Amino acid sequence: MGIVSGTELLTVNGRELADFLDWEFLTADDELVIEARLPGGDEVVYEVERPEGEALGAELEPPTIRRCANKCEFCFIEGLPQGLRKPLYVRDDDYRLSFAYGNFATLSNVKERDIARILEYRLSPLYVSVHATPWEARKVLLNNPRVPNIIDQLTRLAAGGIQFHCQMVVVPGLNDADVLEQSLADLFALGDAVLSVALVPVGVTQFSHLYNGRPMDAVNAGRILASVERWEDRALAERGDRWVYGSDELYLLSDHPLPAADHYGDFSQIENGVGAVASLRERVREGLDDLPRLDGRRIGVVTGVSMAPLMPELLDAIAARTGARFTLIPMENSLFGPTTTTAGLLVGADIRRALADRHDLDLALIPAETINDGGLFLDDERFVALRETLPMPVFPSYDFIDVLALEGEPHVSGRHAA
Ligand code: SF4
Repeated sequence: MGIVSGTELLTVNGRELADFLDWEFLTADDELVIEARLPGGDEVVYEVERPEGEALGAELEPPTIRRCANKCEFCFIEGLPQGLRKPLYVRDDDYRLSFAYGNFATLSNVKERDIARILEYRLSPLYVSVHATPWEARKVLLNNPRVPNIIDQLTRLAAGGIQFHCQMVVVPGLNDADVLEQSLADLFALGDAVLSVALVPVGVTQFSHLYNGRPMDAVNAGRILASVERWEDRALAERGDRWVYGSDELYLLSDHPLPAADHYGDFSQIENGVGAVASLRERVREGLDDLPRLDGRRIGVVTGVSMAPLMPELLDAIAARTGARFTLIPMENSLFGPTTTTAGLLVGADIRRALADRHDLDLALIPAETINDGGLFLDDERFVALRETLPMPVFPSYDFIDVLALEGEPHVSGRHAA
């Protein structure tokens, strides 16, 4: 239609376009009148009949992200060291990204107009950072005296058919114990509108300068899991699903055995670290038969401190199936400090330290989550550049099977992953 890069899309069927959501929803009609301003300034009107199911083919520029108005003491972004690349410091709190990508939003910054849009476009399910339902406790947690009452917001949206996946980051002394009980009771009372609740322990780095509280310890983590068990019993009896889930970290911290994959249903909060270990175990179990013989191959596996104790059972099973010999290399996090033990937050410098002198390895696997879509580690190291400096082929891997299943094939052996 002559829409070129830089064209400003103004209206669809007479309604003004504010962002990608308007475009997505308003262009769902079959007959469209689109007003646009071309880069030269000419305004054009297009009348379009959209063939059913076919995309319009316009690519929008990335949306301006709504910034967060809170100042949580436990905010991970406030716990980043100085000097990283700029986008890492963006604190987004955007209901549109909550719907589109599953990012958690607090809904503290939504206005009447936003509520109307959520209802009109049926933006459901939304991923909501509740943290606490008692209003005063929530104001303290979000460090923002102007946060709206979350139960009022959720009730209103639920009445319009919107559903939620909720999370609570549990901070000892602020929203454990009675506040946790009250919050779970309030969310449970919302019925089917609340699809799931994840409880995640507060995680702070050595740079979390706002955080004054205590770190989560084993006793507290165990108490939170006891609450999870009580509420899941009730949910199973009354709703037929577990509804509330503890994140894997709560189990690891309190030394409780991690549940099996069937505990987590459709893994709706796996991005939140809920069921990630169970899912990994399942994928390894299911993928074993796809693995080739790798007799005598010496394979290094780099991981974080918290995952290290869980690895031997998986690697032993793969070794028994393939004949490969594994070396586990747990690394402390040099950027965030020793309290940050997650494998996915290891940085390029850690991978380099782990592997630079390992001439005894034929191959190394690193956590794929350490690298973003642009091929960068959090410390700005570029994966493709780093791997060239290491003495063995290195592959980012999610579950070992993804890489090792291809290793026996002669045409890909020794390849470098992108
Ligand atoms: S809501 Fe809190 S944790 Fe989330 S970005 Fe804002 S300040 Fe950080």
